Amino acid sequence: MKVAVVGAGVIGTTTAFELTRDGHEVTVFERRSTVAEEASFASGALVAAGWTAPWGRPERSLRMPWATRPGGLKLARLPRGGEWRWIWRWLQAGQGPHQADRHRQIHQWVQYSQQRLLAITEERDLDHDRSQGMLVLWRQAREAEQAQPALQQMKELGIPCRELSADQARALEPALNPETPLHGAIELGGEAAANCREFALSIRVEAQQLGCRFVFSTTVDAVEPLGPTAGVNLRLSSSANAGTSDVQRFDAVVVCAGVQSTGLLRPLGLRLPLQPVYSHSLSAAVREPLDAPMSAVLDAGYGISIARLGQRIRVAGGSEFGATPGQPSKATLKQLYAVLSDWFPGSVRLGGPRGSVQEWQGAQATLPDGLPLVGATRFPAVWVNLGHGSAGWAMACGTARALADQLAARSPDIDVSGSSPQRHGL
Ligand SMILES: Cc1cc2nc3c(=O)[nH]c(=O)nc-3n(C[C@H](O)[C@H](O)[C@H](O)COP(=O)(O)OP(=O)(O)OC[C@H]3O[C@@H](n4cnc5c(N)ncnc54)[C@H](O)[C@@H]3O)c2cc1C
Repeated sequence: MKVAVVGAGVIGTTTAFELTRDGHEVTVFERRSTVAEEASFASGALVAAGWTAPWGRPERSLRMPWATRPGGLKLARLPRGGEWRWIWRWLQAGQGPHQADRHRQIHQWVQYSQQRLLAITEERDLDHDRSQGMLVLWRQAREAEQAQPALQQMKELGIPCRELSADQARALEPALNPETPLHGAIELGGEAAANCREFALSIRVEAQQLGCRFVFSTTVDAVEPLGPTAGVNLRLSSSANAGTSDVQRFDAVVVCAGVQSTGLLRPLGLRLPLQPVYSHSLSAAVREPLDAPMSAVLDAGYGISIARLGQRIRVAGGSEFGATPGQPSKATLKQLYAVLSDWFPGSVRLGGPRGSVQEWQGAQATLPDGLPLVGATRFPAVWVNLGHGSAGWAMACGTARALADQLAARSPDIDVSGSSPQRHGL
């Protein structure tokens, strides 16, 4: 089939790779000048099955713009109109009988994706910064108690995890600051941390070698289905050749346009309950390897991750609703610096001639229940792989494979019914 992919973030590039691998003639359209320039640019590095569990903190809570305590979804401003409905649905999804089932499905996506990531890395002999095994850190006994249901569910699902005492955790991550109180930890196994952008760049090259075409600086302005079996037209405009526009026909299109997917699908009557949730990261060069993490840790109470990516450390966390793109939150960045210094003081170069810290804000395309949409819409030629929220990197390889299987009318290796686009009326 002649297939178009809209968007070259980590979801679009992995989807294009899997489709090309299956023998389709694939073209990726990306409005930016290369891959992984938006949410996939400097995202956190966590890919371990289980990292998404509500470890030691209330599953979902709101923080008002003036609140100073950590955790929860911070409102950068008061929501407007229909945004309240999204907030309400997001809060509801964190309560009640469906909550455990939602976590089960997310764990299964991440676990499957973790296996695919490893398989692709080995099969294609990819060289990207990655490490095995990570720790979820509990500062207080209360966090450990709150995490017990999550731990029980992981054990039932057969996800490799082990409860550790503070001493056992410090033995695995010897640079953890002895001055910072540590009650205990959970060790999550397998591929745990990896560089999202670096992987997207590598998988683009692999896809190209298999015959996939990438067209950059080109925006898909409209998706126009042509009838039940006639395919789809894409209206394109190129910023490289200002003013030029084009219409191209494909047998199918897969929309992987992150937060921009809403505007692209709305004219078709496909209404996505998708909102951008803003998160932040810091990246800095390792100053002294002995003071740096060996792999990755997640501070359960703050929801902030610290990962070693080769010679760099990436700290990521915070989630804000209604933030202004391009204006990182000073309060969230301050918290990232504080948590880094709590656990690995002196590990990065913050100043001086060789010190430079990259402070970054990215928008996560988030659906209220946190499960992505993977599959065909009611228009047979229009497919979606989007809405991965805070775990898009950890689900990328799995959702890409499952989408390619569905497009080839094969049963995916895992049950994808909970991520069907029909659950939101698409
Ligand atoms: C600070 C931060 C930390 C994170 N930490 C983690 C983590 O530790 N683990 C994890 O699993 N996930 C993490 N995430 C989430 C993860 O990064 C995202 O879920 C993932 O990158 C989403 O990828 P994507 O390809 O869907 O979106 P994007 O990377 O945003 O890609 C969408 C692409 O579509 C393009 N596009 C949009 N509209 C059009 C159009 N009309 N025409 C052409 N191109 C278009 C855009 O330019 C963009 O390149 C984090 C995110 C942030 C911001």
